[in-house]
Amino acid sequence: MSTNNLAQSIYQKAIECGYENCGIIPISDLDGYKDNLNERMAKVPQSAQLYKNAEAFTHIRERYPWAKSAVVCITWYGKFCYPESLQGRYAKSYFLSPESVPNCTEHQDELRFQEWMTEQGLRWEGGEKYGSTRNMPLRHAAVAAGLGTFRKNNFFYTEKGSYYGLEGYLIDEECTYKQTCSIKACAQNCTLCQDACKTHALSAPYTMNPMACVSFWTTFGQGKIPPFLEERQFENWICGCDACQDACPHNRHDWSNGEDFSGLDEITELLQPENILNASDDVLCEKVIPKTVAHIPPEQVNTLRITAARMLRNSVTESA
Ligand code: SF4
Ligand code: SF4
Repeated sequence: MSTNNLAQSIYQKAIECGYENCGIIPISDLDGYKDNLNERMAKVPQSAQLYKNAEAFTHIRERYPWAKSAVVCITWYGKFCYPESLQGRYAKSYFLSPESVPNCTEHQDELRFQEWMTEQGLRWEGGEKYGSTRNMPLRHAAVAAGLGTFRKNNFFYTEKGSYYGLEGYLIDEECTYKQTCSIKACAQNCTLCQDACKTHALSAPYTMNPMACVSFWTTFGQGKIPPFLEERQFENWICGCDACQDACPHNRHDWSNGEDFSGLDEITELLQPENILNASDDVLCEKVIPKTVAHIPPEQVNTLRITAARMLRNSVTESA
C-alpha cells in the first residue's frame, strides 16, 4: 500500500470504528512538545515535579525508535447525555470515557480499530493500555494534525467544544493525514474560564498550575487539600473538575440531550455523595473506580469518601 493509500485507509477505518475524526502526523511533529513543556514549567516552576511524567513525551523517538508516525483519533463526548445530578461533581471526560465500560460499543470499536491495524501488518503502540498517562502528548498531537486548536484554558477544542476523548497510536510506517483547522481564537478580553477557576490554578491565558488544580487533588492527590488552598475552593467537585470548560461559551451544550452512556444510569444513585459515604470498598471499587479511568487506583478508594464528605460540607455552607 502506498503511504497515501495507507493514510487514507487508516482515516477511513477510524471513522468506520466510530471516531469522530482522525489525523496522522510524522513523528517529528511531536518534537515541538519539548518547547511547550519547558515553557509551561518556566511559567509555573512549582509544576515541574508533576510534569516529570510528561518528560517521557520529549523522548518519544528514543523510546520508540521504530515509530515513524503518530495517529490521533478523537471522540466527542457531547453525543452522550450526562445526568444533571453528576454535573458540577464528576468530570465528564472520566465518566463518559468508553474505557470505563469494557463491553460498551465504543470500547469494542476501539479494539476493532486496533485489531485492524495489526491485520494490516502495522506495528503499533498506544490506546488505553497506558492509562491516564498515554504514550504521547495527545492534545499536542491532535492540534498538530489540524483536528482542532488550544484555547486559553489549555484544552483541545474543535468547533463543538472541548469535551473530547483522545486516543493516540504510534505506527511504524511513514504516512500523513493532516487537516486544516479554521477555528477562531478566543476573544481577547474573555476571562470566563479564569474567573470560573476558584483555586486560581488557571492564573493566566494558557497558564495552569496543576498543583493548584481541583482535578489533581480530587484524584491523584487523594482528596487532600494543600496548605495554600481552602476547602471551599473545591466547591462541589468529587472527582475531577470541569469548571474552566463549562464556563466557556464554546462549550454551550444541553447535556440532557443525546445518547445514553452505557451503564451510567445504573450508578447515578450510587454517585450521590451520601451514598458514596455509605458504600463499601468492594462496591466502590467494582462500580465507581473503573469510571475514573485510572485517575483513582482501587487502593486509594477512600479518596472518593474524602471528596464526597467535603462536597457535602461545602453544599451546607453554600445554603447557609
Ligand atoms: S480543572 Fe478546575 S481547578 Fe483545574 S484549572 Fe480548570 S477550573 Fe481550575
Ligand atoms: S472561556 Fe473564553 S478565554 Fe476561556 S477558553 Fe473559553 S473563549 Fe477562551
